[in-house]
Amino acid sequence: MTYSSMAKSELCRIRPENDCCRLAEAYGLLLYAKLLSEGHDTYTTDHQEVARLLGETAAAVCGIYADVLTVPKSTKGSGYRYVVKIPNAEQKKLMCAAFAGHTGGILEKECCVNAFLRGAFAVCGTVTDPMKDYHLEFLAGSPRRRDILAGAMKRVGIRAHELNRNERWVVYVKDVDDIMALMTRMGAPYAAGHVAQTRAVKGWRNSANRRVNCDQANIDRTVSAAEQQIAAIRRLMGERGPDAIPPELREIAALRLENPEMSLRELSESLTEPISRSGVNHRLKKLMELAEQK
Ligand SMILES: [Zn+2]
Repeated sequence: MTYSSMAKSELCRIRPENDCCRLAEAYGLLLYAKLLSEGHDTYTTDHQEVARLLGETAAAVCGIYADVLTVPKSTKGSGYRYVVKIPNAEQKKLMCAAFAGHTGGILEKECCVNAFLRGAFAVCGTVTDPMKDYHLEFLAGSPRRRDILAGAMKRVGIRAHELNRNERWVVYVKDVDDIMALMTRMGAPYAAGHVAQTRAVKGWRNSANRRVNCDQANIDRTVSAAEQQIAAIRRLMGERGPDAIPPELREIAALRLENPEMSLRELSESLTEPISRSGVNHRLKKLMELAEQK
């Protein structure tokens, strides 16, 4: 089951308590299933609960009886599609009459906008798995339906964008906070929570990666500095014998030779008489300078 259909299942379990919201949800469902449009009498979906909700709502809110048919996706493959069918012109007329004259008022209250968006999302929306991308979209299907949707989202402070992809008139949301806010408004707190969790996991991974990269860079720097110091110490001792190293530098030279991976702090702590990091640095520099001198 995709993330999108899980979110839809969550939404389909809601039954609005107020009449105003029931009408608004029905409007969202039927308008974006295109069943209120001239010449459209069927709506097809892969999601059984969406088909059932559409049929139930048409009956409860508009008093009409839509058929909900189950048809195989293909002759040999598995899986089913669900077709919601308005049986005749009389029923269609009754259905459209339920909204006639007061479509403007349907979206006046915030509770109703939320219900309307839920209905629209159930029939024409998709949301991408947040692990892959933050993207939620509605295929509005016409400029008029696109404008109604965009207006409804603006009304409740969701930043939506528009685009026309193959005459589908898409309204989409990209911002992760807006996606979570919209899901919560529509009534899918679990799906919204999943987005929040995914974002937290992604953030943690990014910072862990940054930390690992940063640690690695520090180690690389330490090792490359240590390699130069070791080369200098070996040169000094090889060319001029152990006495070439002044007594006060002998312990640090021996420590460095044995411990190329040690940081300045670790070196300073390993000395019999610990000195500061800059003191260690100073002594190592001194060794390098001596090695330079012929
Ligand atoms: Zn309401």
